Amino acid sequence: MILIGPPGAGKGTQAARLVDKLHIPHISSGDMLRAAVKEGTAMGVAADGYMKAGKLVPDDVVIGMILERIAKPDAANGFMLDGFPRTIPQAEALQAAMTSAGYAIDRVLLIEVPDGLLVDRGVGRRNDPVTGTIYHLTFNPPPADIVGRLVHRKDDTAEAINERLHYYSSWTAPTIRFYQDLGILRRVDGVGTPDEVTARITTALAS
Ligand code: AMP
Repeated sequence: MILIGPPGAGKGTQAARLVDKLHIPHISSGDMLRAAVKEGTAMGVAADGYMKAGKLVPDDVVIGMILERIAKPDAANGFMLDGFPRTIPQAEALQAAMTSAGYAIDRVLLIEVPDGLLVDRGVGRRNDPVTGTIYHLTFNPPPADIVGRLVHRKDDTAEAINERLHYYSSWTAPTIRFYQDLGILRRVDGVGTPDEVTARITTALAS
């Protein structure tokens, strides 16, 4: 299964809930790249500049990373991709790898949120590195005793979010059409509380 949506659509929050229910690994290209940056691996060093600026990391780097990850044993019974694919070459590489392994993508879930809401969502977003929970300073405030340990992503500035939105409309929109043409895309309105969006996703997945 694949989760697609603009930056700040709520993919991370909803993916965490879905994988709990479906018992499959949550594979987030953004999380994997951030871990590589933190560890200072060659891939992380190469990706850091692109990420800080809100630009896409080159396809060959991301494709290699994800194909290696989905070949691991814990993904043998399914997986949830979050943030990948974001371009047509990525979608085609995934499709080819799945076909040659005898598997298929079941569902692609598109979480839609108007651009006007996304900058506020990103600028106020804070991640808890201990539990992985994603908060928002206004819409989903964190408990006071953990505020000190929360992390604000370097690319959650208004400038980088606008750049990410630009890449989303240029590169990811054709990817959405790719899955629409395959008949496996489901659209979900991502405006509302996390619980409201989860309820819509449950309905969409049943269809
Ligand atoms: P995310 O956590 O999905 O918002 O991703 C954060 C950043 O990581 C993006 O703005 C890109 O710089 C990079 N990134 C994550 N996934 C991809 C991908 N599939 N293709 C290219 N760059 C990616």
